[in-house]
Amino acid sequence: MSVNLSIQRTERPKERPSEQELGEIKFGTVFTDHMLLIDYDEGKGWHDARIVPYGPISLDPAACCLHYGQLIFEGMKAYRTKEQGVVMFRPDRNMARMNESCLRMCIPPIDEKEFLDAIAQLVRVDDAWVPSAPGTSLYVRPFIFADEPFLGVRAAYSYIFATILSPVGSYFKEGLAPVKIYVENEYVRAVRGGTGFAKCAGNYAASLKSQEEAHRAGYSQVLWLDGVERKYIEEVGGMNIFFVIDGEVVTPELNGSILPGVTRMSVIDLVKSWGMPMSERKISIDELARAYDARRVDEVFCTGTAAVISPIGELKWNDIVMRFNDGRIGKVSQRLYDEITGIQTCVLEDKHGWVYRVG
Ligand SMILES: *Cc1c(COP(=O)(O)O)cnc(C)c1O
Repeated sequence: MSVNLSIQRTERPKERPSEQELGEIKFGTVFTDHMLLIDYDEGKGWHDARIVPYGPISLDPAACCLHYGQLIFEGMKAYRTKEQGVVMFRPDRNMARMNESCLRMCIPPIDEKEFLDAIAQLVRVDDAWVPSAPGTSLYVRPFIFADEPFLGVRAAYSYIFATILSPVGSYFKEGLAPVKIYVENEYVRAVRGGTGFAKCAGNYAASLKSQEEAHRAGYSQVLWLDGVERKYIEEVGGMNIFFVIDGEVVTPELNGSILPGVTRMSVIDLVKSWGMPMSERKISIDELARAYDARRVDEVFCTGTAAVISPIGELKWNDIVMRFNDGRIGKVSQRLYDEITGIQTCVLEDKHGWVYRVG
């Protein structure tokens, strides 16, 4: 495909929520006026890139994504800055990861640069929807699904790439208030050799049961252990996890079942650039509990596009309850949050070349 992007503007723009209302709206429930669609057909490749009014997509009931789950997605954000217009944070990493997910799920690859250009064009068309109040942004959700009507089990011959946009306020109503997390001992999210590293819909479907039980017990998210030994720490729901132990920042190494977060990657780079010790390695839940008993754990936090940095105030593993930093956000977490959000909104200098100008 060489993007020959057609644009059909809506004749009935929706009413946009005010910046104030945005703070009250649940994450990901309001969508803008337009969406991006690109078709794929075997033999033809990706074609017919078009921005059209936001609305239902018609699908054959036999469309394979509905039966066998060939569906991947991405999540990134566009920010309105004071002086540099609208920008995105490292979207090239998201597009590269999307291709990793495609590869794993037998979805044909996309041209990362062309598709990102098309997404940026969509954001420009819906520019008025990019909010400007502190903490707000436009969430960008690209996804690809198999739409071929076919009930056999094989990779489909036709797909739709779509992108929708959703203005969002702060992810957590309490702001940076630490969350309570339940360590899952029974269910697993992913195993090595499986699809854990791919951002595919099925991973989330597999996690819902555990998430529901954790909610009922009063916890906001689940911490996953490795799928084989239930011993090594992997990640939290839709976020990666970090510990500050004896002044060293530690995060589980990527092993095929952990999702390689763009925020995770950025945190690692920042910590290193500050000259702080940073290690990606295996860390078991026993090791953490022992370090906790010895009062060596200074901070625990998770990272992801939606919340950026989310401090963890409490971890419950079987009968053991670990509480960190007196239920307050720690110094490293706060510094990371300030630095990343500062770069994202162009308040701080972009020393790493992470900011992408939408226009
Ligand atoms: C998307 C996602 C993350 C976070 O990735 P970011 O690129 O930082 O947003 C972490 N874990 C899972 C399972 C995810 O789907």
